[in-house]
Amino acid sequence: MSDHNQLKITNMEYDKDRPKVENPLKIMDVTLRDGHQSLFATRGRTEDMIPVAEMMDEVGFWAIETWGGATFDTMHRFLNEDPWERIRTLKRYIKKTPFSMLLRAQNLVGYRNYADDLARAFVERAAANGMDIFRTFDALNDYRNFETVVPVIKETGTHFQGCICYTITQPRLGGEVYNIDYYVNKAKDLENMGADSICIKDMAGLIAPYDAYAIIKAIKETVKPPVHLHSHFTSGLAPMTHLKAVEAGVDIIDTCMSPYAYRTSHPAVEPLVMALLGTNRDTGFDIKILAEINTVFEKEIMPKYKHLLNDTKLSITDINVLLHQTPGGMLSNLVNQLREMDALDKLDAVFEELPKVRKDLGQIPLVTPTSQIVGIQTVNNVLFDDENERYKMITSQVKDLCYGLYGKTAVPIDPEVQKKALKGYDRGEEPITCRPAEVLEPELEKAQEEIKGLAADIDDEILYAIYPVTGKKFLKWKYGKEEPPEEVKAKSLETALAKLELVNLAKAGKVVPKSEIEKIPEKSANVRAFNVFVDGECYEVGVDEIGGSPIISYSMPVPGQAPAPAAAQVATPAPATESKPAAPTAAAPKAVEKAPAAAEGTPVTAPMPGMIVSYDKNVGDTVNEGDCVVVLEAMKMENNIPAPVSGTIKALNFSSGDSVEKDAVMCVIG
Ligand code: MN
Repeated sequence: MSDHNQLKITNMEYDKDRPKVENPLKIMDVTLRDGHQSLFATRGRTEDMIPVAEMMDEVGFWAIETWGGATFDTMHRFLNEDPWERIRTLKRYIKKTPFSMLLRAQNLVGYRNYADDLARAFVERAAANGMDIFRTFDALNDYRNFETVVPVIKETGTHFQGCICYTITQPRLGGEVYNIDYYVNKAKDLENMGADSICIKDMAGLIAPYDAYAIIKAIKETVKPPVHLHSHFTSGLAPMTHLKAVEAGVDIIDTCMSPYAYRTSHPAVEPLVMALLGTNRDTGFDIKILAEINTVFEKEIMPKYKHLLNDTKLSITDINVLLHQTPGGMLSNLVNQLREMDALDKLDAVFEELPKVRKDLGQIPLVTPTSQIVGIQTVNNVLFDDENERYKMITSQVKDLCYGLYGKTAVPIDPEVQKKALKGYDRGEEPITCRPAEVLEPELEKAQEEIKGLAADIDDEILYAIYPVTGKKFLKWKYGKEEPPEEVKAKSLETALAKLELVNLAKAGKVVPKSEIEKIPEKSANVRAFNVFVDGECYEVGVDEIGGSPIISYSMPVPGQAPAPAAAQVATPAPATESKPAAPTAAAPKAVEKAPAAAEGTPVTAPMPGMIVSYDKNVGDTVNEGDCVVVLEAMKMENNIPAPVSGTIKALNFSSGDSVEKDAVMCVIG
């Protein structure tokens, strides 16, 4: 039997006899969202998209992904940019090609399930601001989490693309949970929900070429909507997978422009265009326009982002994905978290623990937010568990997952872990089985009330509702109530090029004095001196944190001991904003000497670096041992930090939104 998907090839000259084909492979460009999210920590600025926007509109992409995923978070948090404004601005330059966004279903563009009223408002506003295609996924593939957003997508007349998150539990497709029937059944569910297209979302680059072939063929034979493949390069499989997907009849494929391609991003568009040239799936794209776009990216834009690329290895493939099925983004989070905890040597233990935690938590796919939930819980287990007790420090998100707040897991959660997680859980110790948002109180009106006077419109209010702490901070910058810090401001191309030049000089062994880069800064009162020993010589080095908040000092007795004498207090854990230098020398930290009258008692220290979300207690409140006193966010996961002793709160050393280092004293109980 002949296979109608067989590629047909015509010999031709590029400019002359290129055939116009009946069913060209459609391409969605993801450079402006997933590309910089994968390679440059989602730091792409709107002003750096404008120089290529009009040219990209000419290529003939099926769509351009411009928004969603992590962009909403990073834009307001790190770039001082209004996320809503990006859609409107880019729409002025990209007039023909539809916009696509990545929507985390009921998680919207955040890390938890939001209430129905907020979810509806978000989708309505995204569509009103110019979004055309909603690529919708749920981290657990629990489509009950689609039930609120999908009708709004349909009402707004936009395109509902339903995703199946691709995951495996062994090196290739198969096994008891994630086998071919699983994916075909999910595709049927999506068709029944009215999906305009179906996307296989391979966020970790795990899908092997022949598995993609089998899945796409089976789905195409079963359902009607077009099938779209999203596969990251990470493991190196994706370019081969793309070709097999084309042979299986895939309709649409995601790629990046080559400067934003490969590594943990996507395969580049250019080789695919050339590979299909003259075939019956020819994209029809003009390779010359693509080359022009790349020149602009390389010359005008990349110098500003190059430093963000993790190029510590020569290899552009990540062997860990093949060995451990750990998605690239998750791996870099884990490494960062371990580094900040001075525990990078535990990485192998983390790899060993990760599949166990994943299995305990219901064998869930690893994608935002479940990749963080599983990843950080794994780190907590490795760092804090001992032979007598597992799951000693359970994050709030794991508790929520055990309660059913994210949805139904692929297999049941380990009953012992579930029971432990839900002990004293504030919503109840009995997990729910209904659609998660059923138990969530409406939240938009409350947020609107809270941000009154600062928010100017519904878009501001939604931003605040999704990101209360950083959203409020952003709105203060936006309306001139607070000066945005230096690090969120845009850097010019000239500055970026000058810095790169200096890096090259330094690499060439030419020493560059700081005065040539910028003016020598004033020494602050917090500068500390260190002896640094290099090859038998000793240098005195002053260390002064750049752009740091004032050092917060304290004095405290070492836990479980009598108040320490003054000299010993200096040696207690470093104050909040200090880095971790070598052992201090005779130059005692001045900050401690001029410390304000510090509270005496038992300190509650940060077990990991993070951001203070909130204090559950005020100064003067009595607490019992084990009560939650402060909620600490680390790697976007919230940890309830319990009181180590009973007593009265003597001091709260930070406020909501403050960053703390590991071992910072967050509060004192006397
Ligand atoms: Mn992706």
